[in-house]
Amino acid sequence: MNAPHAPDPSTAVRGEDGARGTDWARVRADFPLLDRRVHGKPLIYFDSANTGQKPAAVIETVDAFYRRHNANVSRAVHQLGSEATEAYENARRKLARFLNVRADELVLCSGTTFAINLVAYSWALPQLKPGDAILLTRMEHHANIVPWQLVAERTGAAIKVVELKPDGTLDLEMLHALMTPEVRLLALAHVSNVLGTVNPVREICREARRRGIVTLVDGSQAVPHRPVDVKAIGCDFYAFTGHKMCGPTGTGALWARKELLAAMPPFIGGGEMIKEVSFQGTVYNDAPYKFEAGTPNIAGFAGLAAAVDYLETLGMADIEAREQALLAHLTEELSGVEGLRIFGTAPEKAAVVSFLVEGAHAHDLATLLDLEGVAIRSGQHCAHPLLQWLGVAATCRASLAFYNTHEEVERFVAALRKVRKLLG
Ligand code: PLP
Repeated sequence: MNAPHAPDPSTAVRGEDGARGTDWARVRADFPLLDRRVHGKPLIYFDSANTGQKPAAVIETVDAFYRRHNANVSRAVHQLGSEATEAYENARRKLARFLNVRADELVLCSGTTFAINLVAYSWALPQLKPGDAILLTRMEHHANIVPWQLVAERTGAAIKVVELKPDGTLDLEMLHALMTPEVRLLALAHVSNVLGTVNPVREICREARRRGIVTLVDGSQAVPHRPVDVKAIGCDFYAFTGHKMCGPTGTGALWARKELLAAMPPFIGGGEMIKEVSFQGTVYNDAPYKFEAGTPNIAGFAGLAAAVDYLETLGMADIEAREQALLAHLTEELSGVEGLRIFGTAPEKAAVVSFLVEGAHAHDLATLLDLEGVAIRSGQHCAHPLLQWLGVAATCRASLAFYNTHEEVERFVAALRKVRKLLG
């Protein structure tokens, strides 16, 4: 199994990208897919906000699980059953340590979308009533809008929206003004998947808590790219997804305060989430298991545990510094492209750059860039309300990860200049 190439701390020197002399070229070589050619050109993968690439250590762990340990969790006394259960519970413990939370407060699930729906159906639906309000922000992903609309329709609660400043930061004055007594829940992104804006979630959650408002933070774009201490943030719910943090698809988790989980009814019923079942009634298991009905993605969670090991060995602070250096380089290079407009210029920003080039449609640019081996996303990025506010039908989005390189940034901008000429 390939270990990530973090340096020996005793010889480490803080380098150009703020990292302790990490050999980023060797780190990149841990990702087999990045060696690919696409349309005859070396791949430049700038779509990590969509899904992240996987290091060999993760791929090999999933492979080894199916080759050597495959069994169902908690249902068998045999050796393989114990090994599968241990692999799954090991992921819960590792994720809990990684985010500084208790393992028994972590519900493992298929990802952020499931995690937010779990809160919507198990916490909000039984609680909310006409006259209550749910507070969202303009920059939310559809996964943090649509579940609340479904709940609002069924409970009669209202939805209120905090708007943004021109640079893509949250209007904090408006946020505070909208934190009125009828607001029961504030649900917001830690980091925007379109603008890259990093929200001051710690301060926001403190203010909400003071006013008795329950908070849910969507950490999909934060956990893969920066150190995250959920306890320090002080929210009530924190949702994230495994496939953006070097882990397999179909993995993720919801963290929630123990007392909230204890009071919430199950969302999905079935095997594994019960203590006892009879036709007269069912006694549910304790949290987090009462929210984990059915057979989970065991191999996926074994892989996610390997992803956490991988990220921890590199160090989240060094990953953040590396990505910030790549972001600064990309932003500077793009600022030299005539007619190019960047959406989202918040002072604290993750390595996500949404842009448009005058006279070129976003989809045309992305299609021609694909022919140059460049993978970027174009469209509305599951954020229609944000695109409506920006006043554009679509944007291109280049999103980076630590495994990208400065050379790729330059090749990407050269390819962009070339395809732009083709579009006239
Ligand atoms: N929230 C944000 C901010 C995202 O960027 C995404 C995925 O792009 C999601 C939620 C949904 O994540 P998943 O599809 O893994 O459930």
